[in-house]
Amino acid sequence: MRIRVLGSAAGGGFPQWNCGCPNCRGVRAGTLKAIPRTQESVAVSSDGEHWVLLNASPEIRQQIESFPPLHPKKPRHSPIAAIVLTNGDLDHCLGLLSLRENHPLTVYATDRVRRGFTEANVLYRTLERFDDQVTWRALKLGREDELASGLTVEAVPVPGKLPIHLEASSAPDAEDSVGVRIRETRRGTVLAYFSGVGGVTPAVAQALEDADAVFFDGTFWSEDELPALGVGDKRARDMAHAPLGGPHGSLAALGALRASRRILIHLNNTNPLLREDSPERAQVSARGWEVAYDGMEVSL
Ligand SMILES: [Zn+2]
Repeated sequence: MRIRVLGSAAGGGFPQWNCGCPNCRGVRAGTLKAIPRTQESVAVSSDGEHWVLLNASPEIRQQIESFPPLHPKKPRHSPIAAIVLTNGDLDHCLGLLSLRENHPLTVYATDRVRRGFTEANVLYRTLERFDDQVTWRALKLGREDELASGLTVEAVPVPGKLPIHLEASSAPDAEDSVGVRIRETRRGTVLAYFSGVGGVTPAVAQALEDADAVFFDGTFWSEDELPALGVGDKRARDMAHAPLGGPHGSLAALGALRASRRILIHLNNTNPLLREDSPERAQVSARGWEVAYDGMEVSL
């Protein structure tokens, strides 16, 4: 299985357009040991010909162009065989609307995420220009489904929350946020992709336990990261992201994993892990974790 990180930042990217926090200022000025990142999306393939995107970021066009295996092989063609959505956040779904150029798409999502994106959304009509422009495949919690050439997908519920734009109109549901286990059928290798996790539940721990590679929620280092920098009043948990650091952080909760590659992704621009020479970065490296960057590749 070949895995390519197309984008590794949380919503807003790094730097974020309206953010003047020390990280964003420093990366713009070139005074930090840090590199810019686009919003989270990963491409996965078993055969190198058919690719699956995990999430469709607002920067999808630039991300496709950045990786030649995703380029068309014929006048009208795309190697993107399917797109998997892990929740309904706009930084994971908005890219779908940018793939509107009369091309059939296959999208895997829970019914909740599909409805949140398609219902009462007048812009969705741009993906209804012809019959079957989008084929939706329902992810059911705990069920393994065929995904694309040589790959299967299983959705695992994770503590999460509704996207901000749906909070007022819906009650929370277990199908709002999932992690996925992508299995290569030929060799049995498993990628556990859990980019938004509000807490390490027994189901989450079990889903990561036997995986060969783990991508995990690296949004925030500390609970009060935004208030401490004066860039927001929400704590990590208010945004359904467990902080990584500290005795009760997700890194401590995850403990020992057998995966040969353990990678943090979906980094918020405030996260000290973005600074390659930060003490927090040294801490996660010492625990055997890597920090995802745009263009990172993993072969399983
Ligand atoms: Zn910032």
